[in-house]
Amino acid sequence: MIAMRTPLVELDGDEMTRVIWQLVKDQLIAPFVDLRTEYYDLGLENRERTADQVTVDAANAILRLGVGVKCATITPNADRVAEYGLSQMWKSPNGTIRAILDGTVFRAPILVRGIEPLIPTWTSPITIARHAYGDIYRNVELRTAAGEKAELVVTARDGAERRVTIHEFDGDGIVQGVHNTDASIAAFAHSCFAYALDTGQDIWFGAKDTISKTYDHRFKDIFAEVFAQYRERFAESGISYSYTLIDDAVARVVRSSGGFIWACKNYDGDVMSDMVATAFGSLGMMSSVLVSPTGAWEYEAAHGTVTRHFYKHRAGEPTSTNSVATIFAWTGALAKRGELDSLPELTAFAHSLEAAVKDTIAAGELTGDLFGLSTLGAKRKLGTQEFIAAIASRLA
Ligand code: NAP
Ligand code: MG
Repeated sequence: MIAMRTPLVELDGDEMTRVIWQLVKDQLIAPFVDLRTEYYDLGLENRERTADQVTVDAANAILRLGVGVKCATITPNADRVAEYGLSQMWKSPNGTIRAILDGTVFRAPILVRGIEPLIPTWTSPITIARHAYGDIYRNVELRTAAGEKAELVVTARDGAERRVTIHEFDGDGIVQGVHNTDASIAAFAHSCFAYALDTGQDIWFGAKDTISKTYDHRFKDIFAEVFAQYRERFAESGISYSYTLIDDAVARVVRSSGGFIWACKNYDGDVMSDMVATAFGSLGMMSSVLVSPTGAWEYEAAHGTVTRHFYKHRAGEPTSTNSVATIFAWTGALAKRGELDSLPELTAFAHSLEAAVKDTIAAGELTGDLFGLSTLGAKRKLGTQEFIAAIASRLA
């Protein structure tokens, strides 16, 4: 039995991933690790019961203890308010946690034999880092009418105004205002460079500074300023940082063999992460980690609670839900805890569990989503529980 020192912050969640969460703990971790966690139940019922205080408490616990592992959670919409009898439409837990950690999300595909990327040269994972603040996600926008003039006005504390004309409309149109802050861009840059060092990967950043000579150019400049603090450590680690126009970055990514981090502005990251995830295979194979600029780590699967499968499970029907990204959230957190607490056997266990997952898939024992994608000759479709049991038998 492997001992732990500092507890992991455990954030339980909803629906099918909550079912998988318990199976993974019971069958893949508890038999080998004397698991210590500080448990927060972010299941929607408990968020309602605690008026969402549990989410805030969990995020603060991650800042305090350094490493968390999170199950997927429901972000309520109008349907969920009715389904769960909610007193209000609670905010996205991931949004709340990200705001408290001030972090950057890194998403990387898990590569396995038999699931070939749609781009054949992508032999190593491409990790996307998405800046999660501002730009169009915090915009204001209006429709305009013929004869109207749109202006950009900035007012100083003393009332002094700066004003530029955006457009004088001859016909009907639209106008939009967006912003970002130096502090948020710098925090993003710090998280990106720290993660590149942590994982030993090159990092690229692309924006549209040739067209947006003030806005996007500011991103480029801040990245360059922050990088000055990392230059030496990058050289020692043999990794590099490069800035290029976003168009050029896209072209280079497609021609690449993977194995690097691609830092993206908010919108680019939103769009490109879906492109990269699809090209690498299944959503069930995307891992995700939120890294705060102060060095707190939260690991999770990139997918949601897999509601459609949960309704089948609840109705007693068989399911074949992919647990790989959830397992890798646990292994990421355990490996990081092992590293921070100088417990190499804990980190080694996490890597053995990852290897057992990959061996299971390479042996053709697959969940339904992977069965459709696998190029292996001999393959077998397993149920949700069976797949986890197959990994457990390899691990033992
Ligand atoms: P989802 O849970 O990611 O599932 C969308 C579809 O993708 C599933 O119906 C399934 O397709 C496939 N899929 C995703 N993960 C899979 C897995 N592990 N194994 C097999 N197939 C998988 O997204 P959603 O249905 O849009 O959202 C469901 C709930 O999750 C929502 O309440 C949303 O708020 C929440 N959500 C949470 C997070 C988070 O906590 N990080 C992220 C996204 C969404 P098939 O049905 O075709 O098999
Ligand atoms: Mg998207």
